[in-house]
Amino acid sequence: MFPELNVPVSTLRGVGAKREDLLCEVGISTVADLLLFLPYRYIDRSRQSPIAVLPVDAEVTAVAPVRSGNVVPGRRPRFVLVLEDESGILECVWFSGHRYLRRAFASGDLLAVGGKLTRFGGKRQMVHPDVEVISDNEEGTRVHTGRVIPVYSTTARMKAERLSSRALRRVIYQALEEVRLPEPLPEPMRARLGALPLGDAVRKLHFPDERQDIEAARRRLAFDELLYFQLRLRLLQAVRFEKPGPSMSLAGPLNSRMLAALPFEPTGAQRRALSEIGEDLADGRPMRRLLQGDVGSGKTLVATAAMLSAVDAGAQAALMAPTEILAQQHAETVRALAAPLGLVVACLTGRQSQRERREILQGLAWGRVHLAVGTHALLQEDVVFARLGLAVVDEQHRFGVLQRAALLEKEGGAHLLVMTATPIPRSLALTLYGDLEVTVLDELPPGRQPVKTGWRAAPDREKAYRFLHEQVSAGGQAYIVFPVIEDSGARDIRAAATAFEELRDGILSGLRLGLLHGRLPPAEKEAVMTAFRRGSLDVLVSTTVIEVGVDVPRATVMMVENAERFGLAQLHQLRGRVGRGAAGSYCILIANPEGDLSPDARARLEAMAATGDGFEIAEMDLKIRGPGQIFGTRQAGYPEFRFADLTRDVDLVRSAREEAAELLDRDPNLERHDVLRRRVESVNLEGPSALAG
Ligand code: ADP
Ligand code: MG
Repeated sequence: MFPELNVPVSTLRGVGAKREDLLCEVGISTVADLLLFLPYRYIDRSRQSPIAVLPVDAEVTAVAPVRSGNVVPGRRPRFVLVLEDESGILECVWFSGHRYLRRAFASGDLLAVGGKLTRFGGKRQMVHPDVEVISDNEEGTRVHTGRVIPVYSTTARMKAERLSSRALRRVIYQALEEVRLPEPLPEPMRARLGALPLGDAVRKLHFPDERQDIEAARRRLAFDELLYFQLRLRLLQAVRFEKPGPSMSLAGPLNSRMLAALPFEPTGAQRRALSEIGEDLADGRPMRRLLQGDVGSGKTLVATAAMLSAVDAGAQAALMAPTEILAQQHAETVRALAAPLGLVVACLTGRQSQRERREILQGLAWGRVHLAVGTHALLQEDVVFARLGLAVVDEQHRFGVLQRAALLEKEGGAHLLVMTATPIPRSLALTLYGDLEVTVLDELPPGRQPVKTGWRAAPDREKAYRFLHEQVSAGGQAYIVFPVIEDSGARDIRAAATAFEELRDGILSGLRLGLLHGRLPPAEKEAVMTAFRRGSLDVLVSTTVIEVGVDVPRATVMMVENAERFGLAQLHQLRGRVGRGAAGSYCILIANPEGDLSPDARARLEAMAATGDGFEIAEMDLKIRGPGQIFGTRQAGYPEFRFADLTRDVDLVRSAREEAAELLDRDPNLERHDVLRRRVESVNLEGPSALAG
């Protein structure tokens, strides 16, 4: 976060090779690391008065010299340390740790003790207080007492080598005296926000004057993180604003023919989205828009219309999806809509043969292929478009921010439409997509009924399978999802491959079953998926490879085994695979309530049963798991903030976004803001920890 302070800690006074080595144990190697090494708690030693006037039954700090220390035998032997100042006597009592305590203090040592003061038999006492020996000099009294002081975590080895929390406190105090942190924010912005100067904020994180300072300091650093991130995103995209976007219209002949041939009417939300997109496409600047819509809200149609407008304008369009299955499916959908119009649609994933691939690349480069659908294979350097007018990125959160930008690198002025089905809380959307305008598809196609969701214990499984039979007899299809592919011997964890055989030969015999998981060869995966989509399979036994985007309208049952092992966003995605047609659909979550369900798992299952609204689910997920894990495993491109808390700091996210936009309007390359520019350039958008360094 402070690139200018990425110098070894040993450059500080009082830190030699040995301490440098010890500090590594807690991840501190640079001066920046040291300054951002946060206390894990604080002790309030600000209320400090002579022993005799300390209020009883309150948390207090006393600073006084040791008079004596002795073990007092008895039924519960205790170690009693007597402190005395001019005003009176204080007894500190411990019921354990006597061996250490006897050697820890010498008569005459000046101690700061903190804790609850009680009166016991007429004596002033503290039981098991926080104790620190402080030296009786100016530094000792300034750094370690008389204020709210920081406590740092240290390792056993650090303690053994005399780098205790207390010693670390001195090192950090010293560093704060020595280091000047330049202020990155323009003064008017800082004043407008009422933010602490950066140097003050960092100092107050360690040595607050009052408790309230800590939160004010955290917010200042949180704002900086969010601002740097926003600026980085915008600078990245801005490069591509240099060329004007091709002027395109949704009212061209291809679109009119496509819409006329649809078996249904677009929903109101789809119409609104199309009109917003239409304005973007026409106004000469490249579009940067996020289309957010719950699973099944019909984003693909909107994307296809936008893509056709590119072709109407004499350009090409590309659609990138995160998995091969999805790319394949999108290719089929787009082809079904576009091929009757005489357009050429190519699908590029990692698995075309050399010959096919060469042919596709040539088609793209010469402009013979109008629409390209694919995975990140589209990003490879040898993929060149004759004239790319629009790039669509589906299920965006699975791609990094850089990948989203990379597709545009293929063509300077291309329009960008990003689509995400994972409803994400507002604060996260503003952060991740801070550079994009947002359109929300807040309406499902008509006739959809909410998916009935139930949580069943494992013994009810048979009943669930009988129900599944009935659904298939009535013309439906079903998914059964398992957390793992193969039995690992782990108790109670059902595996897809094992269960597939059991079910096929047992309770589901008579139905047509398919097995899908990530380790199948791509051709087989595709064949199974196609068979299921065409209705020649009744039941798809699968792992979460089907999680995102798969669209089979006839599927009416989603059964999830070991549902407690899935994240909330994932469960919602899985449930979104059903309820896509007119028939009523069901989601059955199997998880034993008597098993060792964690409170979080229970909360997730209850949330699923309680609501079908993706946005509600997303907010709950953010609360249950915290923002760091909202997307399951850490994904490249997902920013992890150290100070900002996206569940609480929505106001900061918002102001960082506004300030970033305004600043770049006045100084597009931050040429007049050197310190800030260097900070922004050091933001790493690729790693899980976006702000490391
Ligand atoms: P998602 O937003 O999850 O990507 P899809 O684009 O896959 O949703 O659409 C889900 C299903 O709804 C598809 O089968 C699609 O054909 C259908 N669909 C889309 N728009 C409409 C509409 N306006 N009326 C009826 N069905 C629609
Ligand atoms: Mg989709």
